[in-house]
Amino acid sequence: MGYVDEVIERVIAKNPGEPEFHQAVREVLESLRPVVEANEDLYRREALLERITEPDRQIKFRVPWVDDKGQVQVNTGYRVQFNNAIGPYKGGLRLHPSVNIGIIKFLGFEQIFKNSLTSLPIGGGKGGSDFDPKGKSDREVMAFCQSFMNELYKYIGADEDVPAGDIGTGAREIGYMFGQYKKIRGVYEGVLTGKGLSYGGSLARTEATGYGLLYLTEEMLKCNGKDIAGKTIVVSGAGNVAIYAIQKAQQLGAKPVTCSDSTGWIYDPEGIDVALLKEVKEVKRARLTEYAAARPSAQYHEGKGVWTVKCDIALPCATQNELDLDDAKALVANGCFAVAEGANMPTTLEATKYLQENKILFAPGKAANAGGVATSALEMSQNSERLSWSFEEVDSKLKGIMVNIFHNLDAAAKKYGHEGDYVVGANIAGFEKVATAMIAQGVC
Ligand code: NDP
Repeated sequence: MGYVDEVIERVIAKNPGEPEFHQAVREVLESLRPVVEANEDLYRREALLERITEPDRQIKFRVPWVDDKGQVQVNTGYRVQFNNAIGPYKGGLRLHPSVNIGIIKFLGFEQIFKNSLTSLPIGGGKGGSDFDPKGKSDREVMAFCQSFMNELYKYIGADEDVPAGDIGTGAREIGYMFGQYKKIRGVYEGVLTGKGLSYGGSLARTEATGYGLLYLTEEMLKCNGKDIAGKTIVVSGAGNVAIYAIQKAQQLGAKPVTCSDSTGWIYDPEGIDVALLKEVKEVKRARLTEYAAARPSAQYHEGKGVWTVKCDIALPCATQNELDLDDAKALVANGCFAVAEGANMPTTLEATKYLQENKILFAPGKAANAGGVATSALEMSQNSERLSWSFEEVDSKLKGIMVNIFHNLDAAAKKYGHEGDYVVGANIAGFEKVATAMIAQGVC
């Protein structure tokens, strides 16, 4: 058995009941075969794949808080510090009832390679809790965030581990966590990113993941002789990534016609009205039925279905494994020619394979959605300098980073004989830098 297969088997045996983590490890390691085979003796001696698939540490803690009725509630908090070979741990905090250690590990593992791809000095980590902010009052969210930070503060710091937002963690939650960290530690430092603009946040961080997704998609299309202007786009999700992906797509002359949340989806053949979507989701925190009620051209459907809409480009921007084999078949049958992942691992392994076999241009999330963490790293730079850059400056750096990511992964795919396979390219380009750093730093 080859080294890659041995390590995949070992990871599955050592981490039972963590299917998302197994899936992420399989996806990354299988695509690293060309580089692993070229360096097998060295990597085996260094136990490099065993080390890179084992987190530096996993922290799990109780998060008790009091709800508005005076009842004590208990959630579980997690922080997985996966790898800091090239910089402090960096990765978001997910607040969603589905959160468990396997999901946090899959996200932290992917984050290592994503962060490396940005070319910025940031390692990989991820955290979160099974707390659901939906339907909670601001006071309840604050009580949870403060209790969460009462434990998390022991493990993070501006040069150690810098968490950020993710599903369920937006500016409100980051604000409450930052306030509590400052109170406990008595220091004012850039320990979290995604902060409000009045206390150290970066302009363009809110927009960064969605905008970055479109910058990379535009470059991928351009390098394959296509233009994004005039194209019909289907988008899933209606959160931070989806909203700003829709906005930038429109600025580039494309027409996004769908969005979705966990209860239903919108088809709006006139093109999504971003101002209305922001009002419904960012201001009112309401369901998409409110969008449909306010927009005569929109149709609302219960459940899942955006991938059945005819399109040129698909951008999954909601959550993991939301685009399966049947969805991939529907996209191909409807003439879609490009898929770029705004969410983390939204496409199942079978669906990815099918899309690639059918010559769909496929940009994996660790490259396509890296704009968020890249801009978080730019926020860290501004905090260290105690300066704030203009929106245009951050946005132009973001665009440069995304274009550079595409060219790096394209070059890595070509170098190892997999031209056009951007999954292989992204994993190899992200892995090589981390592997070199780990070997240089010795066994630690
Ligand atoms: P948000 O919480 O802002 O939005 C998530 C969206 O996806 C919401 O519309 C939500 O609907 C929907 N969603 C979440 N879970 C499910 C589910 N199980 N089934 C169906 N729909 C679901 O999160 P973000 O936009 O920040 O994150 C979206 C994805 O992008 C995640 O995979 C995240 O890890 C990834 N990502 C985010 C980055 C960022 O900067 N924010 C950076 C890089 C990646 P509802 O509100 O009904 O739950």
